[in-house]
Amino acid sequence: MENVPKKLVCIECPKSCALSVDIENCRVVRVSGEKCPKGKEYAIIEVENPTRVLTSAVLAEGLSVRMVPVRTDRPIPKPRLLEAMGEIKKIRVTKRLRAGDIIARNFLGLGVNLITTRDIL
Ligand code: SF4
Repeated sequence: MENVPKKLVCIECPKSCALSVDIENCRVVRVSGEKCPKGKEYAIIEVENPTRVLTSAVLAEGLSVRMVPVRTDRPIPKPRLLEAMGEIKKIRVTKRLRAGDIIARNFLGLGVNLITTRDIL
């Protein structure tokens, strides 16, 4: 049976190249449609090890706001996103923070930090 190429849109720059990706045994064997090498890199990561920067909010207690916006400082594997959201729901921020302060170091043991994205004063 012939494999149908997977269609992706590269999100590495505003050109949004339409990529066609041939996959065998969960591995990328050919990419076409990219206008620069980043497109091939994007396709390989997206197919073989998809990751996302997680953005969310955690609850604040005793502060001027109810929620504190947060994100991971680097992408995390897509299959871990639900677990990450579950952990974020357990976190409470009780002290003032500056944008970029770390709320959870080595979040989920993934080597990334959960950081605030704005000042909470
Ligand atoms: S393949 Fe290159 S030019 Fe095309 S969207 Fe991706 S980064 Fe931009």
